[in-house]
Amino acid sequence: MHRRHLLNLVLASAAFALPFSASATQIRNARLWRSDDKLRLVFDLSGPVQYKTFSLSAPERLIIDLNGASLSGDFSQLALGNTVIRSIRSGHFGHGDTRIVLDLSGPIQLDSFLLPPQDGQGHRLVLDLKTVTPLQITTAPASTIDKAHPKRDIIVVVDPGHGGKDPGAVGAKGEREKDVVLSIAQLLAKRLKREKGFDVKLVRNDDFFVPLRKRVEIARKHNADMFISVHADAAPRLTASGASVYCLSEGGATSATARFMAQRENGADLLGATSMLNLKDKDPMLAGVILDMSMNATIAASLQLGSTVLGSLAGITTLHQKRVEQAGFAVLKSPDVPSILVETGFISNVRDSQRLVTARHQQAVADGLFEGLQRYFQKNPPGNSYIAWQQEQKKAQA
Ligand SMILES: [Zn+2]
Repeated sequence: MHRRHLLNLVLASAAFALPFSASATQIRNARLWRSDDKLRLVFDLSGPVQYKTFSLSAPERLIIDLNGASLSGDFSQLALGNTVIRSIRSGHFGHGDTRIVLDLSGPIQLDSFLLPPQDGQGHRLVLDLKTVTPLQITTAPASTIDKAHPKRDIIVVVDPGHGGKDPGAVGAKGEREKDVVLSIAQLLAKRLKREKGFDVKLVRNDDFFVPLRKRVEIARKHNADMFISVHADAAPRLTASGASVYCLSEGGATSATARFMAQRENGADLLGATSMLNLKDKDPMLAGVILDMSMNATIAASLQLGSTVLGSLAGITTLHQKRVEQAGFAVLKSPDVPSILVETGFISNVRDSQRLVTARHQQAVADGLFEGLQRYFQKNPPGNSYIAWQQEQKKAQA
């Protein structure tokens, strides 16, 4: 609740900074209907609007952008219980546009349209949400299940850190981070490729340099469900050893180590999260709000993934940190893709680096990462994925 309050405060100041013209369309109210096959959400408007919608997955969200519209009503009175909508968030962005985010409990089919004034009703934006629930699918005849379900692969983008002119950390005997992490990433990719229901892309498959910005772009281009950056760094304290998992933080870093690592990884190749959303020319506060809105859910997913992966690594190597650390890593700033950065160990530690260069340990780490990813997606499969379909089949048979 505290976060929400803070967001409202930011939104209020954003609205103050950009007064809307008197002609802006007001979103006055929202109403909800349920029928057997769909949920209808209606926004009452003071005039016509232009709008667009798009979906984000893992977790599922529907985003509605209304141009030249501002919010005068509030949605808190809507009874969302037992609907596919978990919560509704909203905020201003651009010059008087409004973004509404529906947090969904699963994938939906959307039908949306505008209605002109009629029968005492004003302008309306109507959204019909049809849930694609396991229940509906399992009650369908078996022959139609195959056709109805996309059974898509879960796309994991694996990012071996550094490369080319950037060796990363270098060990006492000349062990190079860029080589170690490439081997581990390639082994992880190989393992993922063997597993039905997963598809994998490597950010680099050889020893070349990839700028941070490019790494995030690759994840977005492939519509990644998950981005995992693999590292093996140096610490000023040579006794520091073991694996850690990091994800992006909304605020400050959770520890001094997280802060130090973030500074180090970001290096000279700094990437602002804002540049990904083309918000460079916008007020930084507004840009922050939009990012916040799309990132809240993704960070929660990243944290969950991170702790699952950390749990798997615990059996393979010592842990430097027993919980997922959060910091402002540039390479993780892909707001729509849950992302983690794994420090597989410390090249600067003699024992760690000796193990990290062996094929046997590299394979063990890759297997641990795979197991963590697999466990996470077994628990949180995207609704239209093969893994989700597989689970529906099992439930149907049970
Ligand atoms: Zn690194």
